[in-house]
Amino acid sequence: MRGTVQGVGFRPFAYRLARTMRLSGFVLNDSAGVLIEIEGSDAACFPDAIRAQAPPRARIDSIDVLELAPAGGERFQILESLNGRSATRIGADCATCAECRRELTDPASRFFGYPFVNCTHCGPRFTITRALPYDRAQTAMASFAMCQACAADYGDPENRRFHAEPVACPDCGPRLSHPIGEVAARLASGAIVALKGIGGFHLFCAPAMTLRSASSGYARHVSRSRSP
Ligand SMILES: [Zn+2]
Ligand SMILES: [Zn+2]
Repeated sequence: MRGTVQGVGFRPFAYRLARTMRLSGFVLNDSAGVLIEIEGSDAACFPDAIRAQAPPRARIDSIDVLELAPAGGERFQILESLNGRSATRIGADCATCAECRRELTDPASRFFGYPFVNCTHCGPRFTITRALPYDRAQTAMASFAMCQACAADYGDPENRRFHAEPVACPDCGPRLSHPIGEVAARLASGAIVALKGIGGFHLFCAPAMTLRSASSGYARHVSRSRSP
């Protein structure tokens, strides 16, 4: 299967679909995209089901089907990636999904109030990737070792953070360099705030300040400090 199929939750999706359809076999990432082997009475329907139900961020360009002799397997597995030069595309950064937003505002969730909450359906991809294949060690998240809870989510095929490379929580992930309360107070006193987002900087100012005065103030500051 070729297309945007890595880093978009494709393997756990194939795993759940195969289990629902009572198919055995495996799924893995390879240098061309995703390789799936399936066996069972509904196997012929699998490619259509894949196309119809693919995860929101996946884009399937093509599915090549090859018939093999039955292997007699009994379960479906997610296998480690095959090494090789990667020809697959990396997905774009994506706004926080509804489920992550719910956790963000749920006091019972460990992601409560955590600004970098993400999962396989949302969060940064392209802007944190340094090299392919897409793998945490090759992203800007490499220096943040996962805590136990995040590692458990990452390793659980039933969890929507299964192999979500940027997975992070307040215990193990990046933190804000300035508390939100401090930033709000600076804004209220007329300061301009440049906030580094997923893919660039956002300029913030109090509503009373016009866009023109905010951006020219920021430009003056930037040229004065010679910051990039
Ligand atoms: Zn999410
Ligand atoms: Zn964590």
